[in-house]
Amino acid sequence: MLLNSLTLHTPRSLPEAAKLFKELEDSKVLAGGTFLLNILKLLKSKGIRTVKNILSLSQVDELKGISADAQGLTIKAMTTITDVFESPLLTDNFQIIHTICRNISTTPIRNMATFGGNLTCRYTWTEMPVATIALDAQMYFLLPDGKTSSMSAEDFFKNNARSEHLFTHAVITRNAQARLAYRRVRKMSDVDQPLLTVCVKTNLKDQQWAQTRAVINNGTAFAQRDYQLEEFLNGKTSNPHLGQEAMNHLTTTIYNTRSNEYKQHMFRVCLRQAIEEICKSK
Ligand SMILES: Cc1cc2nc3c(=O)[nH]c(=O)nc-3n(C[C@H](O)[C@H](O)[C@H](O)COP(=O)(O)OP(=O)(O)OC[C@H]3O[C@@H](n4cnc5c(N)ncnc54)[C@H](O)[C@@H]3O)c2cc1C
Repeated sequence: MLLNSLTLHTPRSLPEAAKLFKELEDSKVLAGGTFLLNILKLLKSKGIRTVKNILSLSQVDELKGISADAQGLTIKAMTTITDVFESPLLTDNFQIIHTICRNISTTPIRNMATFGGNLTCRYTWTEMPVATIALDAQMYFLLPDGKTSSMSAEDFFKNNARSEHLFTHAVITRNAQARLAYRRVRKMSDVDQPLLTVCVKTNLKDQQWAQTRAVINNGTAFAQRDYQLEEFLNGKTSNPHLGQEAMNHLTTTIYNTRSNEYKQHMFRVCLRQAIEEICKSK
């Protein structure tokens, strides 16, 4: 199906993109297009009007790339999931991002979909939200006046992932002490989308858990932490029963809100397995 007629804007620099982002009315940002183009076609098929302007970021090279130093990792918004996956910079606590990229859908989707689109498209199939919250990533946005603003990934998703400004990049602090485990449950066998995702992170010192983050997504409104579970885990020493014991300390309202019985069960299975995986690590 063809899209409704629209004007495609293709800025070639970041200042130009920021200017158009501010000026264009009735518009949407186009990153990899894997989500947006489907939505535009879906709306058209339902007879719902679609936006008149599309702001494509595909030519803005300043928004592409991944870099790292001793302090941290920076991933720019227009870096494709494939490019993130293939980066040799995903060491230490960043390795979990490699795991997540490997799981995302199919090769054609990974070649097109971008890191920024995954974080900002406000769709519940996405997997980067749990990782960025678990890793305490900071997200950066370009304001119309050329200045930047930032907020933690956790705050971004608390605010229902609303992006009033152009998302430019995320920065994650390096933490060699961190241990992370990730679990996802696939929604259906023919198209690979996640039904739910879980990421647990802790700082292990002498096998003792500290600064734990237990983050869940898909099957909840937006990615969020289970603070009650984290509080239980902090101060505990890794042992073979910790995962099972932790199941008595879940904030049940989080899991019950949008989940059916199967999802609630699978959240428990995934969280228990993730905790057990960390308990086994040295
Ligand atoms: C068949 C299929 C299977 C999928 N399976 C998975 C999966 O298994 N795991 C997973 O994690 N994801 C999955 N996805 C989701 C996919 O990763 C998303 O479609 C993708 O992340 C969106 O990225 P995009 O670059 O294509 O964004 P686009 O579709 O181009 O953009 C979507 C929206 O994001 C916002 N946006 C994008 N970039 C910016 C920016 N820089 N600043 C502000 N707003 C911005 C805009 O509102 C834009 O309209 C799947 C998608 C499909 C179609």
